[in-house]
Amino acid sequence: ILSLLSLGTAQAQKSKPMNKKQEIEQKVEALLQKMTLEEKVGQMNQYNGFWDVTGPSPKEGNAALKYEHLRKGLVGSMLTVRGVDEVRAVQKIAVEETRLGIPLIIGFDVIHGYKTLSPIPLAEAASWDMEAIKNSAKVAASEAAASGINWTFGPNVDISRDARWGRVMEGAGEDPFLGSQVAIARVNGFQGEDLSDPLTIAACAKHFAGYGFAEAGLDYNTVDVGNATLFNTILPPFKAANEAGVRTYMNSFNILNGIPATGHEFLQREILKGRWGFDGFVITDWASIREMIPHGFAEDRAEAALKAVKAGADMDMESYAYVNELVQLVQDGKVDEALLDDAVRRILRVKFELGLFDDPYKYCDEKREKKVIGSKENNEAVLDMAKKSIVLLKNETQLLPLKKKGQKIALIGALADDKTSPLGSWRIASDDNTAVSVLEGMQKYKGNELVYEKGADLTVGKTTFLDELVFNTTDRSGFEAAKKAAKEADVVVMVLGEHGFQSGEGRSRTELDLPGLQQELLEEIYKVNPNIVLVLNNGRPLALPWAAENIPTIVEAWHLGTQTGNAVAQVLYGDYNPSGKLPMSFPRRVGQAPIYYNHHSTGRPTNTDDNVFWSHYTDVEKTPLFAFGHGLSYTTFEYGAIKLDKKEYQKGEPVKVSIDVTNTGNYDGKEVVQLYIRDIAASLSRPVKELKGFEMVTLKKGETKTVTFTLTDKELGFYNNEGEYLVEPGTFKVFVGTSSDNVQESEFKLK
Ligand code: BGC
Repeated sequence: ILSLLSLGTAQAQKSKPMNKKQEIEQKVEALLQKMTLEEKVGQMNQYNGFWDVTGPSPKEGNAALKYEHLRKGLVGSMLTVRGVDEVRAVQKIAVEETRLGIPLIIGFDVIHGYKTLSPIPLAEAASWDMEAIKNSAKVAASEAAASGINWTFGPNVDISRDARWGRVMEGAGEDPFLGSQVAIARVNGFQGEDLSDPLTIAACAKHFAGYGFAEAGLDYNTVDVGNATLFNTILPPFKAANEAGVRTYMNSFNILNGIPATGHEFLQREILKGRWGFDGFVITDWASIREMIPHGFAEDRAEAALKAVKAGADMDMESYAYVNELVQLVQDGKVDEALLDDAVRRILRVKFELGLFDDPYKYCDEKREKKVIGSKENNEAVLDMAKKSIVLLKNETQLLPLKKKGQKIALIGALADDKTSPLGSWRIASDDNTAVSVLEGMQKYKGNELVYEKGADLTVGKTTFLDELVFNTTDRSGFEAAKKAAKEADVVVMVLGEHGFQSGEGRSRTELDLPGLQQELLEEIYKVNPNIVLVLNNGRPLALPWAAENIPTIVEAWHLGTQTGNAVAQVLYGDYNPSGKLPMSFPRRVGQAPIYYNHHSTGRPTNTDDNVFWSHYTDVEKTPLFAFGHGLSYTTFEYGAIKLDKKEYQKGEPVKVSIDVTNTGNYDGKEVVQLYIRDIAASLSRPVKELKGFEMVTLKKGETKTVTFTLTDKELGFYNNEGEYLVEPGTFKVFVGTSSDNVQESEFKLK
């Protein structure tokens, strides 16, 4: 292979020098020419390394067979191989024992950190801080890359509006504009400037597409959406990821409008590889080719493989479909070998870009592994990200920030002393008990008296990723001690919410309440001392109407990762002034789901005065409990009126929108200024509000800054049902403010 590669280079030197891209293309072609049909199929096959460690295994995926396939060049990639030693071992087989010595690409779910964990992705999105998010992905990449990994199955860019779905924790929430910015930040953070840098890894935008729209929030469920929603809401973050240069996509388990996404030719070939010109490769989701059989889309594995490869799925993750069926399908004339060539080209291209052919062990450096993983700098970075992810939902009586001296504080709730749950879901490489707990974080502030009482256990029994968590604890024996501590305290801090494994894959819920005895405990404590700071730990929006009405102070602290306790304590004590904003609406009741700010108008008034058949629920106010974009600070901000440079604009002309924001409170602080638009009348009904810009401003006490946004065609248009982008003349409303439900308003005309 080396002579083959140097031949390519030598030829190039005769004519004019090639750029890196051309050079890679030539190497890919040269290598492809050498490959047998079996070897091509091998590149399209990915095996999980998991069974090798844990055995026993399913018949087809047993370790011995996998090793045999690896030696024959029938494996192009492995996932969940952990650590330099393991990666080196499998890579050695691929490079030294197979005929062509093509290195493996090693994938892993690096979802929010590798060992040093940053907040869950939904929490990070709440920072609205793209630099911080990019940096967090960079830190995650550096640790994974030091551990032999060169490809992450992230970012998850699924837009999701239904908090019942457990995987909302993995995405950036409900909004396509924010979601697109976050997608770009994460792709850039993982991949860096140059993919061949051994501190960066290839990213993967997933799950293509529609997975976040699972009916009733039930994971893996059917998705039925119109093209307007597909093009305007679901696809934009995927498109943004492509524009940021993401090298891979993962398709998804779900059926989208009748066709499983894995076999969806329109999605993968027409849109992704056609209209968007994506030249990396598509990996299937876990066994998603095989799932097309129960989906009723393929009779058997051979038909499933045929449909997947035709649709543009390039690499098979754990379906054993390509490796067992494709050769025959080609030999029988049912699949054109050109389709395999296309897939293999894409896969080899990314391997070359990663520099794996130059040095297949470049990600296997024990010294780097020791130095980078869990380093001081990485812990500082995830702490910074964790603080920025916290959202102050309510601070009515100014219990926060806590005084640093002379207060008696009761800390209550099982999650306060938990070092595992705050790590959140999707943390395959990190160990239990490695988070700084809230108790530990608060203990560092020594000026106050701190008393901890659990009150009640959160779960009964085990709490591992694969177990269902059981919340039916009836043990109230800790209530009395907790009440006593609360009664004697000046302030009660209660850490309540969901266990870290209550969200994530396969973790759908039909209630969005505080599980177990927590609500009861909260109400009991409130009776003896209402001065409660409620710190929420959760992987999804919760519906907590009683708490929102009665508890004076609520802090959304999600699952913040390794540095959870330090981040929470620094915010509670005012060493960090919170600036996070919700990336997803919080409902009042679960029955409102899916609830999102950028909905269409029902056509009906929102007020009973005008029409008895007004748009409402008869039993609960239809607005969210906490709106998208909501988040307070210890200081206050005042907005001036919106200024537009004109009242009418020609199409294509930039629309300049500015506003003065003043810090009117007693602390320096940061504010995320948000801009929304509404296209009043168009050929396709447009949402009542759409986020089209945001900017974070830092303001000292008393300081005023003018924030200016520029709207162009890119923000003012929309996709029609054919997926064409249109910018239509007419009246636009423009809103600027502190959250989707608290804005100033103006309007302009587009000619
Ligand atoms: C998930 C993917 C993940 C894959 C590999 C699947 O179950 O849906 O998001 O990347 O497993 O672990």
